[in-house]
Amino acid sequence: MVNRKQPKRNYNVPVHVIKRLINTHTNVDDHTRELEKKLQAQIVALKQAEDRLKDTEEQFKNMVDQQTALVELNDAKDEFISLASHQLRTPATGVKQFIGMLLEGYFGDLTEEQKTVLDYAYESNERQLQVINDLLKVAQVDAGKVVLNKQVYDLADMLEDIMQEQRAQFEKRNQHVFLDRPDSPVTASVDVGRIRMVVENLIDNASKYTPEGKKITVSLHQPHIGGKFVSIKVKDEGVGIAEEDIPKIFQKFSRVDNPLSVKVGGTGIGLYWAKKIVDLHDGTISLKSKPARGTTFVVKIPA
Ligand code: ADP
Repeated sequence: MVNRKQPKRNYNVPVHVIKRLINTHTNVDDHTRELEKKLQAQIVALKQAEDRLKDTEEQFKNMVDQQTALVELNDAKDEFISLASHQLRTPATGVKQFIGMLLEGYFGDLTEEQKTVLDYAYESNERQLQVINDLLKVAQVDAGKVVLNKQVYDLADMLEDIMQEQRAQFEKRNQHVFLDRPDSPVTASVDVGRIRMVVENLIDNASKYTPEGKKITVSLHQPHIGGKFVSIKVKDEGVGIAEEDIPKIFQKFSRVDNPLSVKVGGTGIGLYWAKKIVDLHDGTISLKSKPARGTTFVVKIPA
């Protein structure tokens, strides 16, 4: 048997190669650890983002719940106002009729004193009915229950009529009132009763918020050729409205204090309702005002 001795292997790997190998191995481990760390940080960040998303979701849900509760509360309030006003109107109308009968002498002659007291009672009752009717009008418009009953109507005729009706009030306040209208009819398709109330309200406000002896001008303009709107302007020389108060005046129940507002009553409903009605006609209502100089309201209605 030949016993061959295994030759001794000499790999003779240089030291620097061995070092590099060790280094590379160590670097791979570091790299993995680094990646692991980054991954973990990303997982934590993702978890936090998920938590934040859950919080936001929760907040959003709460907001929706609150909004629903508010809408329900608002509906309940509107219904209450509507019901209460209906219930109040019937007895208040009864009082008006009975006082009217007394004043007309149905139950015998009255002394001057009795007449004066009954006149006061009649006026107070009128104001009460006015407030009740205003509340009912607002409840109806807020509930979206206003259905316009439109017909083509001569607005010039309507204005003449209103001016005639309010003449006594202008005279009482010693105000000079002018109507500037074209000679020919100016027609538009409107809900006559409601647009009349809108204009009455603007003219009534002009008179309420204008001192004695001053001028109020109501004018009616036909659309220019090809124009689309009829416009009604109510211009006064009254107390005016400060610029910062202008956005408030079309808000519900919003009264703006001015030198005459304490003296004259009001509910802060008139302009809110007027704007809603003009909007329903696809029209616009706007104003310009200068404190102590006067105010001009313009209502535009499709011709
Ligand atoms: P009310 O007259 O019952 O207070 P309105 O809705 O008709 O309610 O008007 C809201 C507010 O706008 C009034 O309180 C008043 O301050 C202001 N206003 C309206 N019209 C005029 C006007 N022509 N001149 C000055 N202020 C006005």
